[in-house]
Amino acid sequence: MRRCTRFTYVVVFLIVCAALDSVINVGQLSVFLRTKLHYAYGPDTGLYSTGFKLRRNISLEYCQAVPDSLEGRLNIDLEATLQSGPPPDLQDVLPGGTWSPKSCIARQRIAIIIPFRDRQKHLDILVYNLVPVLKRQNLSFQVVVVEQYGNKTFNKGRLMNIGFTEARKHDEFDCFIFHDVDLIPEDDRNMYTCSDNPRHMSPAVDKFNYTMLYKSLVGGVLSFRGKHFTKVNGYSNLFWGWGAEDDDMHTRLSASKLSVERPSITIGRYTMIKHDRKDVSKVRLGLLKTSITRYLKDGLNTLEYKLVETRLEKLYTRMIADVGDPP
Ligand code: UDP
Ligand code: MN
Repeated sequence: MRRCTRFTYVVVFLIVCAALDSVINVGQLSVFLRTKLHYAYGPDTGLYSTGFKLRRNISLEYCQAVPDSLEGRLNIDLEATLQSGPPPDLQDVLPGGTWSPKSCIARQRIAIIIPFRDRQKHLDILVYNLVPVLKRQNLSFQVVVVEQYGNKTFNKGRLMNIGFTEARKHDEFDCFIFHDVDLIPEDDRNMYTCSDNPRHMSPAVDKFNYTMLYKSLVGGVLSFRGKHFTKVNGYSNLFWGWGAEDDDMHTRLSASKLSVERPSITIGRYTMIKHDRKDVSKVRLGLLKTSITRYLKDGLNTLEYKLVETRLEKLYTRMIADVGDPP
């Protein structure tokens, strides 16, 4: 009898919370309910955004999977500069580079993860060109730049693993897209979303005459569901300097029996901003020989780092991380 009364209290409390939440959107309470709904339905069922629906307007529909507002082939602005502030159509992006559509419910929440150091000009050009694409695609997103602290040898794999780990503390993302800072999308029909398999989004880069250099290429721009990135144990932490961490990822994907999708080369097109190559890894080819036997004990589950600072910039969140020392 007593237990029954307690149960009734809990049910009444939850109903009152839901009613309050839909009317006045009380921060913590709303997050609590959204989390409950998320766990109830899971991100893959398409019902994930029910919480948003409750919080906003009950009549909102899901966004179109491929919105009518897309332009197709784009005019890229390689002279873009953010020094005078974001252009008018980017004014509604929140500090830290987050945005959600207002007129419909986004189907997925996307984290764009950019490994970075010392290429500020490239970063400005990328966000200036990419953020409008993400908005036209009606996605809910956050742009996360993971910058390596100090000037020791660059470790791109660690930075991407850190981006994944830290982004998940900010929000419940459905999809993670790892993105070189110097690749500018040329076609907005190339959707920045996740499908059932990881997707290599950049098969056609101008520098390589818009052809794939080799069949197993997964470098450049690569999208993952969180569960798939966890399944492959993220990137290797061991590749210091330029090269081959992406080929190691290809082995992780095949070893985990995940096939890789690609858009057609008419829409998976990118311009690479010109830059020098420095600091080529000398041990990369040797390391590649051990990818299969190593991947479950080298990656997300062995990642160590120190987050030095997180800054909310106008069009992105900048996380500065100490990735440790090369051997
Ligand atoms: N990167 C960086 N600073 C560096 C080296 C690399 O920010 O000093 C990041 C950046 O995102 C870059 C990616 O790592 O696009 C891949 O490096 P890079 O462009 O040198 O190699 P590529 O893919 O052109 O061979
Ligand atoms: Mn490059």
